[in-house]
Amino acid sequence: MAGSAANAQTALDYIHSRMEKARRRFGAPPEAVELVAVSKTFDADAIMPFLAAGQRCFGENRVQETKDKWPALRALYPDVELHLIGPLQTNKAREAVALFDVIESLDRDRLAGILAEEMRRADKRLPCFIQVNIGGEAQKAGIAISEAVDFVNRCRDMHGLDIAGLMCIPPDGQPAGPYFAQLAQLADAAGLSGLSMGMSGDFETAIAMGATHIRVGSALFGHRPSAG
Ligand SMILES: *Cc1c(COP(=O)(O)O)cnc(C)c1O
Repeated sequence: MAGSAANAQTALDYIHSRMEKARRRFGAPPEAVELVAVSKTFDADAIMPFLAAGQRCFGENRVQETKDKWPALRALYPDVELHLIGPLQTNKAREAVALFDVIESLDRDRLAGILAEEMRRADKRLPCFIQVNIGGEAQKAGIAISEAVDFVNRCRDMHGLDIAGLMCIPPDGQPAGPYFAQLAQLADAAGLSGLSMGMSGDFETAIAMGATHIRVGSALFGHRPSAG
């Protein structure tokens, strides 16, 4: 799928029509669902056609890769909105605050404190999503379900962060619907309206469960050469 603006436009149109159908079919509220185009592992040449086709919201999972790719692209398209969707180490928090517009992978107190400090230093206030380990998987990032609401409150009240919603990556190989429903319930309990959930394989289900942001990579850009 690399290459032309026409291909990028076709891919975007196709995803948007599926998003629209999902919203209508399930009677989701009429607000637009934000499409976060996950461009991780794809180089600037692959991303450019999507920018030319009007896509402005992108997701990346690595600070270093974002630093290599995006400053030049942002110079051409200043209204780009970059979401960090991968795990963040505290020693990269300063760079992340400089590079990104939204942090979707906030999942622990130490990171919340350091992000808050770096945002003050940079005089920026980036909206954050709290990542929840919705499947309770040992190897996955995210705050435990049982701690999520308290953590949201600490992020807002103690750290003074702007918490936009919750984010999750459900376990592989299982129907995602029940996990999405559970994330929506948690967001409700925490008084949050943002829900970042749904990827290429399950974004329609996520929209049915109330997603406000879907993160779609391979359905737009094609298969990633390596895991990432
Ligand atoms: C890679 C990634 C995506 C996109 O996955 P696709 O299946 O290619 O759509 C979404 N969210 C996160 C957190 C990711 O790391």
